[in-house]
This record gives sequence, C-alpha cells and structure tokens, in this order.
Amino acid sequence: MTVGILRRCCIKLGKVRYYSRESSSNSTVHTISITDPTFRLPDRSTILSGIQPTGTFHLGNYFGAIKSWHDLNNLVKKSEGNSSLYFFVADLHSLTVPQDYQMLQKQRLEAYASIIACGIDPQLSTIYYQSCIPEITSIQWVLSCFSSMGYLNRMTQWKSKANLKDNANVSDENALGKVKLGLFGYPVLMASDVLTFRATHVPVGQDQSQHLELTREVAQSFNKSVGSKYFNDPHTLLTPTKKILSLKNPLKKMSKSDKEPLSKIFITDSANEITKKFNKATTDSIEGKLTFDLENRPGVSNLISILAAVKNKSIEQIVIDVEDFSKKELKEAVAEAVINELEEPAKKYKELISNPEYLQKLSDLGTEKARIVANRTLKDVMRLVGMSSY
Ligand code: AMP
Repeated sequence: MTVGILRRCCIKLGKVRYYSRESSSNSTVHTISITDPTFRLPDRSTILSGIQPTGTFHLGNYFGAIKSWHDLNNLVKKSEGNSSLYFFVADLHSLTVPQDYQMLQKQRLEAYASIIACGIDPQLSTIYYQSCIPEITSIQWVLSCFSSMGYLNRMTQWKSKANLKDNANVSDENALGKVKLGLFGYPVLMASDVLTFRATHVPVGQDQSQHLELTREVAQSFNKSVGSKYFNDPHTLLTPTKKILSLKNPLKKMSKSDKEPLSKIFITDSANEITKKFNKATTDSIEGKLTFDLENRPGVSNLISILAAVKNKSIEQIVIDVEDFSKKELKEAVAEAVINELEEPAKKYKELISNPEYLQKLSDLGTEKARIVANRTLKDVMRLVGMSSY
C-alpha cells in the first residue's frame, strides 16, 4: 500500500466516526470503527465487497470480512436505506489458481449460503455471483487498457499465490513461466468489480488494501483519458480485526487450507467442537497476568483479539476484563462468546444449504438487480471510449 505520510485523524460524518489515514496522494483509507456506537455511513453510499468461494467461512473470514458486511447492512437498514449494498461471491477470482471444478461448484453455493447465514439481508443487499454479471468482465477489458504492468508487478498477491518471493518480478523467467495472465491481472478484475457498481466504500481486509489503491489509480487514469470524472475514488474501509491466527500455530493466520483441523473454527461448528478447539488452543507458559503481546504471546493475544472482535470492544478493554483470568478461564470465555456469536449463523446456514432452490431464487434476484446497474455502467464506459453504437 502506498500510504505515505499518515495523517491520523478522526472525522465525524453526521453520526459517523471514521479513523482516517490519509496519504499525501488522493488515496483514502478508513478503518471501520464498529466499536463506536454512533458509527453511521454517509448518505448515498454504495458499499461493495466480495469473497472467494473457498467453502464454508471460518472465524478469520467471519471477523476479517463478513461481520463488517453485516454491521454495514444493519447501518444501512437503520438509516432507512438511501445507500446501496452489493455483496458477491468472487467465483471468477477463484479461477486464478488451479481448482477442482466440481468442488468449486459446491463451494460457490456454500459461500452464497454463508453470506446470508451471517446476517446479510438479501432483500436489502444485492447478493450475486460475480460470474453471472458478464458486464464486469467487459468493463475489465477496458480497464486493463488503463492498467500499468509496472503497477501490477508491484502487487504482492500474485507472488504469494504463485509461491514466489516478495521481490519476484514478472520479467524473471521463473515468474513468467509460473504466473498465468489471470493471476497477474486479478487486481484489474477487482477494480472492475468495484467500478462497475460505482462503489463509494469497499470493506476489505488488509490483504486487499493495495488492490484498492490500484483501483483508484485505474479509475483516475480512465477519467483522465476520457476527459470525464466518471469514476469516483472508492474509499477503503478496513475491518478492525486485522488477523485471526491459527489456534494451533499462532504464528500463522487461520486458513481454510491449513491441514490441522484444530487450527480453525468454522461458522458451522457445533458448540462441542468449538469448546474442544479452544480448549486445545496453543497458548504459552508465561505466568501471572494475561497480556496482549503478539510477538511473545501470540496464542493468548489471538484469544484476546477474538474476544475483542466478538464483544465489539477494544483490545485494551478486553485486556482489562481478562487480565486476572487463568488461561483456561480465558479459553472458556472465548469459547462461550464464539458459541453465542455463531449460534444463529450456524442454524441459518443449515437451513439454507438444504434448500438449493431457494438459494437459486435469491441469486437470480441478485443477478437481476446487479445487471441493471452493471449494464448502465457498461454502456457509459463504452460511450466514453468511443463506442456509442454499443
Ligand atoms: P480468503 O479468500 O480465504 O483469503 O478470505 C477472504 C477474506 O477473509 C480476506 O480478504 C480477509 O479479509 C478475510 N480473512 C481470511 N482469513 C483471515 C484471517 N485469518 N484473519 C482475518 N481475516 C481473514
């Protein structure tokens, strides 16, 4: 991320408080402060975010992404809705790495069901599969003509997904052979996801932040070339939960691909499974008060982070609450809080996944609503690049 001079300030927009970090360039990154009870969105916001269909969500997906979608969904509901919400299953993004396509088909459905199970209201929000909106890939082509290879080369995700070092370069023979065009150009598809719906606010985890920088860059480059301020600069809304770590190896992040079943909690886990996994979570042998110290006490700190995320409290506040607990008591407290938090999503998910016809109806509705907007943008974009007969 190219956030240069960090100007940390707190802006109150109506009842909204954003913790804003602004660079000397025109990029704007906000951290959603859901711990602030007065948090509210500006009027006429368009919020958009997507998630890849890697199957049922785990606690990292839940706190690192979906919970903030849910909170934004509720904010828009409360504000009596002159803002729009778009949430999607980023299935085309999945094709950037090898897939078992039968499995992918199943996981798309699971991801769609998980979004709704986690409290996103399909009547209020437009929820769709990215692959059902062909306008996105048409707009992507146009945007790719405004995307610098040098900028894409600096992105880190294609390197990590192709198992290359952070300093890898697309002009290296090794990288050229390993990296497919789709993986390298992934951020342009993401730019199209955002710009197709003219999103004003994009909630993402830290890992996607640099792709939004690129989105703003592409939008400005397009605007400059066509002599219009057609695309606005979408704001990055960073979720407050940075990283949920593996319960077994807290030096790694919690990940679906981790082979150790005790390392992760799924939103569909039973109360017994959740209790068992937290009981077996790795902590440390340091005596005395519990402290938050990611470097020396990653296991304990991870449990504190999870509790802070569930309770919508700051880490500092949770440390005050639990510092005199034993580690066993901390694990019990976290397990109880997570069981409560996931009770409703788990129940709802089971109902939804056993009713694929209903899910199909909802996704048809999402596609219909999304395509109306996407088609309008596509026509505008084509007109601006000299294809008004389109
Ligand atoms: P994935 O597609 O599995 O990388 O996850 C989708 C999104 O979930 C990411 O962009 C993050 O915002 C969030 N996420 C995934 N794993 C974690 C984690 N361990 N901690 C926090 N957020 C996570």
